[in-house]
Amino acid sequence: MSHPYHHAKSSVKKWGGTVEDYIAIHSWFDESKSHFGDFRHRALRHHTQGIFECERTFGVSITLENGRVIPVRWVGEQHVIEDMGRLVSLSDWLDAIKPEEWMDRYTRKLAREFKEES
Ligand SMILES: [Zn+2]
Repeated sequence: MSHPYHHAKSSVKKWGGTVEDYIAIHSWFDESKSHFGDFRHRALRHHTQGIFECERTFGVSITLENGRVIPVRWVGEQHVIEDMGRLVSLSDWLDAIKPEEWMDRYTRKLAREFKEES
């Protein structure tokens, strides 16, 4: 699944309502795609911390056109699971970052000292 519209269709199938009830939430998750074209854009919001950030943005629940109340967290979890295959945490993403010297001033200093000693 890759487009917010398809995620919204999936939400409709799960909880009822219309695509318009969910599209803003699913679009919010995928906004980072405008900055980075491949799957790595998901590192910004497709994880448990992103789901809680989504809840802060949209509120604890949404009320569908039909009056049914749906927790925003459910919608966020649905989006992440559909894209990632499971709920992932922010640490899953951070652990996958390959450390580079420029990422940390202290590490760079250690790396330089190590080179000078050898
Ligand atoms: Zn997505």
